Amino acid sequence: MAYSTFPIEQGQELKVHVQPQHADVAIIGAGIVGLSTAWALIEEGREVVLIDPGPPGGEASSGNAATLANYAVEPLARPSLLPTLPSLLFSPASPFHLRWRHLPRLTPWLLRFVGAARRSRTEHATRTLCHLLAPSLDDWLALHSSIQTDSEAAALHQRGALYFFRRTRNWQLARSDFEARQRLGVAQLYLNAQETAALEPALDGIAQGAILFPEACHFGDPLRLANGLAKQLERRGATFIPARAVSLERHAHGVSILTDAGDWHAEQVVVAAGAWSQPLARSAGDRIPLEVERGYHLEFSGAETLLSRPCCPAENAFYMTPLEGRLRIAGTVELGHPADPANHARLAYLRRHAEAMFGPLGAASHEWLGLRPSLPDSLPVIGPAAIPNVTYAFGHGHLGLTLAPTTGRLVAASLAGKAPHWLRHCHASRFAR
Ligand SMILES: Cc1cc2nc3c(=O)[nH]c(=O)nc-3n(C[C@H](O)[C@H](O)[C@H](O)COP(=O)(O)OP(=O)(O)OC[C@H]3O[C@@H](n4cnc5c(N)ncnc54)[C@H](O)[C@@H]3O)c2cc1C
Repeated sequence: MAYSTFPIEQGQELKVHVQPQHADVAIIGAGIVGLSTAWALIEEGREVVLIDPGPPGGEASSGNAATLANYAVEPLARPSLLPTLPSLLFSPASPFHLRWRHLPRLTPWLLRFVGAARRSRTEHATRTLCHLLAPSLDDWLALHSSIQTDSEAAALHQRGALYFFRRTRNWQLARSDFEARQRLGVAQLYLNAQETAALEPALDGIAQGAILFPEACHFGDPLRLANGLAKQLERRGATFIPARAVSLERHAHGVSILTDAGDWHAEQVVVAAGAWSQPLARSAGDRIPLEVERGYHLEFSGAETLLSRPCCPAENAFYMTPLEGRLRIAGTVELGHPADPANHARLAYLRRHAEAMFGPLGAASHEWLGLRPSLPDSLPVIGPAAIPNVTYAFGHGHLGLTLAPTTGRLVAASLAGKAPHWLRHCHASRFAR
């Protein structure tokens, strides 16, 4: 057996096997979804290898807003979004940006997105999101208690999340969304300006009202969380293969995975390659309209003391999350090409609005661009591929961190033939109609 190593945390190395002959379950992608799926499958007694050319959790899973957003039951595509499209597309103050030269390539996805905004389809997606999100906190608490390390940075803070409004009118208008979520059983509180400032003194005079989601949580550091999970997985026998999967082929006793470091055979394959899953799914017989929503973050060392929980200025649609040793300002949606360089205007947008609230924040300690893997109906793809022995676990858009352990549990149930009936709404076959 050949070995190689790559750093998993500074000063530590993870031993990886380069050439296993056979895998029981091969998971392609070691982001938070692949890692959580590996955990769930090991719990079921499966032997797992994870194939990824990069370090665990190093892509979208590293730079997100670190929020367990179990309240986000509304899909992005919804009837109320359509009238706001012109200002979203053309206003310089918009949290959304379209790189127009990519419009021809993006048009099929955008048309599906608009189609998904019909009321009946939105209600349907909301029901499925409720099924997915309802157990997400318990699933995370169970996984987190199993992987808890001494590292404070991997902590899970149960302090809720706050959506605040800088204009009173917007806070009043948000009442109807609040009531709709109330009917769906989402835990939330409608706070006035004084109540908001009592929770977050830095928002005194800034927030005219807010909605608190008391059951939301945030993590001390998503990358270190993924690292902690990877280390525990290795302790429990998972093998990390540093390779890029290129395609899948049906095989007499399972599936062949062609990679840039040789071929592997697995009885079961799980595709969890986030924004890069589409070509792998195509080789498994499925054409899935996966697109990439580019998002950004800026970090400011020492500024985490400003806030005690993730806070989102609703008019600007980004999160400010106090992480270990820094404040992370994360969000915005940019449609373009995954390989385009970072757009500094998007980073400037985040800074401008954060500084309008808190004053100058100084030099950013980190800037980041990440790729959300997104389907036009805001639902992930979880379940069987067109060819046997391949299961999908990707396309979580804005909710991949939140839904990772739940996805792992559902993949394990799917492989055991025990998936809940409603999970069919997340199957790849919904795009074949
Ligand atoms: C700005 C921003 C803020 C966000 N905030 C939140 C939040 O607060 N809460 C939340 O729940 N979600 C949030 N998200 C979304 C969340 O980060 C993603 O949904 C989630 O990280 C996706 O996880 P993943 O494991 O599917 O993908 P990734 O983390 O991208 O992992 C995919 C892995 O697959 C590997 N890979 C790619 N191609 C191949 C290949 N061919 N072979 C093998 N491996 C391959 C990659 O190297 C990578 O390690 C945010 C996203 C962004 C961009």
